[in-house]
Amino acid sequence: MEPSSFVNQIGGESFIYVLILVFVAFIVMNFVDSIRKGRRLRIEPPHAQTELVCPSCNLKEVRSYREGDFIGKVSDENCKSCDHTLSMKGIYAEPKKISSR
Ligand SMILES: [Zn+2]
Repeated sequence: MEPSSFVNQIGGESFIYVLILVFVAFIVMNFVDSIRKGRRLRIEPPHAQTELVCPSCNLKEVRSYREGDFIGKVSDENCKSCDHTLSMKGIYAEPKKISSR
């Protein structure tokens, strides 16, 4: 068998396989790259802060964000002046660390 005819025999089918393989590899590489970028951002999360407000005396308190905080949630922390339970009014992130690319 001549080498050229051998290439012709498998050429038509394997060419498609190679195309698919390259295409899949390209997608996987992009996917892995996006995951890696996403994880890198999660390793250094922006320093978020939660603003707490006392519904009784309107005292405001800002502390660092904790997991599970959301706006409107009633915190288990108490007001320093009247001992009423605080509710979360806002969550902020420091803008300087968000654009850390
Ligand atoms: Zn209060």
